[in-house]
Amino acid sequence: MPHIQLLSPRLANQIAAGEVVERPASVVKELVENALDAGAQRVDIEIEQGGAKLIRVRDDGSGIGEADLPLALSRHATSKITTLDDLEAVGTLGFRGEALASISSVSRLALTSRTEDQEAAARVEVEGRDMAASISPAAHPVGTTVEVRDLFFNTPARRKFLRTEKTEFNHVDECIRRQALGRFDAGFTLRHNQRTVQSLRPAHSDLDKERRIGSLCGQQFIDNAVVIDAEATGLRLWGWVALPTFSRSQADLQYFFVNGRVIRDKLVAHAVRQAYRDVLYNNRHPAFVLYLEVDPATVDVNVHPTKHEVRFRDGRLVHDFIFRTLHKALADVRPDDHFRGAV
Ligand code: ADP
Ligand code: MG
Repeated sequence: MPHIQLLSPRLANQIAAGEVVERPASVVKELVENALDAGAQRVDIEIEQGGAKLIRVRDDGSGIGEADLPLALSRHATSKITTLDDLEAVGTLGFRGEALASISSVSRLALTSRTEDQEAAARVEVEGRDMAASISPAAHPVGTTVEVRDLFFNTPARRKFLRTEKTEFNHVDECIRRQALGRFDAGFTLRHNQRTVQSLRPAHSDLDKERRIGSLCGQQFIDNAVVIDAEATGLRLWGWVALPTFSRSQADLQYFFVNGRVIRDKLVAHAVRQAYRDVLYNNRHPAFVLYLEVDPATVDVNVHPTKHEVRFRDGRLVHDFIFRTLHKALADVRPDDHFRGAV
């Protein structure tokens, strides 16, 4: 019988990385979420070779104090929660404290950061099996830049699963679309191989928000969308749903956010489908960008490491609220409301 041994920190992190770091887009998701959690107004994303060679995310958020830098790359280290009560009411996108540890165990990661009350920035990297942090002085404005090079360079089995540059970049692009739909108040730029692919200014007014939706989801969508805004006790649903006449052959334009987090949920999907049931042909799919706001204490976001799933405390209530709101909105549409943008 072999002896039982503790895994080295690097190997433990690499195993955990299996759950959250599937491809370059997963890295982008984690880094952008961190930037937004740090209160960034602006997030710049730079990608080379679909992200396999380089992912660089730069923000103007709060930054990380030099003393905290070694911890930022350690597993189970987070500034976002300290107690179970915090977890149950969590308002940030992150809270598990494992993204940076996981990513840095399967790539060459460097993080440079400066807080407002620091005169100089510092840079941290980790090395070796024990993932010891090395810190050096650096130049950087207030905020953080994370650079991830050579993703999966030390896990060849994973690297083999990377698809073509174009496919990987499409996933990154989709990831940024979701983040930008989730946070209108932040500006985003996305560059791929030195070419600017996306440039979005912060959107505060309704008009600016619709412009952003138009550039992310297509002008056709927003021109054919009904505005939703409804409230019930403890629940608010707002956003845009396409008229049945603007249906899709694939379910590729469906974004549902719960408290700012994009999620996939059977119950939500069912409620939306039911609302469209009488107005959409069987093999067509509705298009929507919807935001549900609920008391964080009534929804569990700690269902899966990627946090794509949630569990509602009162699923029935949420389902019926979504169904009723959308059903009514679609029933209220009169023919001359079609092509809102054009008339
Ligand atoms: P989590 O987001 O779950 O807390 P991460 O591993 O993603 O875990 O990040 C660890 C910690 O590093 C965060 O809790 C935060 O304090 C800090 N951090 C990471 N990225 C940033 C950033 N862009 N700006 C400020 N702080 C950051
Ligand atoms: Mg995080």
